[in-house]
Amino acid sequence: MQKLRSYVQGEWFEASSGFRPLTDPCSEEVFAETSTEGLDFAAVVGYCRDTGGPALRAMTLGERGAMLAAMSKALHDQREALIEYSVESCGTTRKDAKFDIDGASGTLYYYSTLAKGLEERSCFADGEGVQLGRSARSWGQHAWLPKRGVAVHINAFNFPAWGLAEKAACALLAGMPVLSKPATSTAALTARCVEAIVDSGCLPAGALSFVAGSVGDLFAHLGPQDVIAFTGSADTGRTIRGDSRVLDAGVKVNVEADSLNAAVLAPDVEEGSDVWDLFLRDVSREITQKSGQKCTAVRRILVPKERLDDVLGELRSRLEGVVVGNPRDKGVTMGPLATAQQLDDAVAGVAKLQEHAELVFGSGQRVDGIGNDAGRGYFFAPALLVAKDATAQSPLHEHEVFGPVATLFPYDGDAATAAKIVSLSEGTLVTSVYGDDVKWLSTYLQNGGAYTGRLYVGSEKGADQAPGSGLALPQVLHGGPGRAGGGEELGGLRGLALYQQRVAVMGDRAIVDRMIG
Ligand code: NAP
Repeated sequence: MQKLRSYVQGEWFEASSGFRPLTDPCSEEVFAETSTEGLDFAAVVGYCRDTGGPALRAMTLGERGAMLAAMSKALHDQREALIEYSVESCGTTRKDAKFDIDGASGTLYYYSTLAKGLEERSCFADGEGVQLGRSARSWGQHAWLPKRGVAVHINAFNFPAWGLAEKAACALLAGMPVLSKPATSTAALTARCVEAIVDSGCLPAGALSFVAGSVGDLFAHLGPQDVIAFTGSADTGRTIRGDSRVLDAGVKVNVEADSLNAAVLAPDVEEGSDVWDLFLRDVSREITQKSGQKCTAVRRILVPKERLDDVLGELRSRLEGVVVGNPRDKGVTMGPLATAQQLDDAVAGVAKLQEHAELVFGSGQRVDGIGNDAGRGYFFAPALLVAKDATAQSPLHEHEVFGPVATLFPYDGDAATAAKIVSLSEGTLVTSVYGDDVKWLSTYLQNGGAYTGRLYVGSEKGADQAPGSGLALPQVLHGGPGRAGGGEELGGLRGLALYQQRVAVMGDRAIVDRMIG
């Protein structure tokens, strides 16, 4: 039996008891196990702070950028092996595996490029300085300084590579050492990524640590200079936010949680137009990519009432083409859900939605997978529902089914009505709107903008270059208000703010400027 190891205090650690199993979601066989029993979390955190922190802070931004480029290369050099291992261990299709692995190396590379032009600096100035007194010499300048603790990264199961990289890129460039803890069910792939990075020798000692399994009493050793960046369910987010040590010590916490993302079709979009096609392409991909286990997946689809039948017909025919099964079979286009628990939750979730919506496509039950033994595997085919009452507050706007499931909401075509319906979920990571009527789109922004972290506009001119609403590009913010966790990640250099203290430096201008460099 393969045993996962944690990478702490500059060494690989293997536990001898307390193991949790990792299961192949197609065969349902246990292929690995992991445990953190016996780890001394006080020493682990101390090593990050006392060894990794000083090493990173001694580097210029240019050197940290070069380090991220080397991390990106280490992953890219192992690309084929990592994709293969993702298919084998996580049950993802090759396409979904590439999305995760290339997303990881691409994000690290993007952050390496942000250090260009800042090569000799060791900290960032925040905006322009400002004159404070009558004399121009009396000066104030804000600067960002790396926090002196450790960045604890707790990730969800759905992006074992990207989750590691997108958080680490920001923390390391900011100058903070990272302690990364992936979800146990897919930690085997994260472990391979960490191995590739560690073996490349591109990091100073203590810059990156990795915990495969439970966090044990880690939180008891955190303090006010430490940061927790969490991605996962709202329930776990609440538990972490409410942890007494986290509260007492004032540990900074960022939460990326559930989100019932919406796609809204504006009434000006003609059937058969480029925008119509973009809308259907985006929505069907966002329902099925990664088997719907994506925080940015579309869960709610708003269409003008008179277009409901046409949209439903188009989506049905696209989803009928999805081949659910074991991704080792080349014909399969959608893999299983990650765990037995995820499957149970998806089945129960659709049943819950059916109290308020009609199931019009799919069964909402487990199915057998192509290329797999009958009766085995956590397979779940796409499901579509239509809301009975689009404007009513209901679980349709509150309960995220983390699988290939979406609900259609017919609405009156008014932008303000659409924004009101979308806002019933109290916060999304992304809302996508499709149309060319700028007045309608602006009205949507004014009414619905405060309820989302990102507004993606699909229009005719941009249709051929549209990246897709579910792509969390490092250039733009990832995160959303309310139910989505209230957090912010990525967004270029904005993503570093979580790991830095903003300091207002006041004094004689010549001195202040030279201090900040
Ligand atoms: P989860 O059960 O909340 O687990 C997330 C992470 O938290 C895992 O690493 C888990 O470790 C850890 N964890 C669980 N209990 C903990 C505790 N008491 N203290 C510290 N860590 C704890 O979520 P999941 O099932 O992995 O992911 C699915 C959810 O994530 C969905 O709701 C989805 O919306 C959300 N998600 C959000 C985003 C976003 O960016 N907003 C992205 C992806 C996913 P173990 O695995 O070891 O239990």
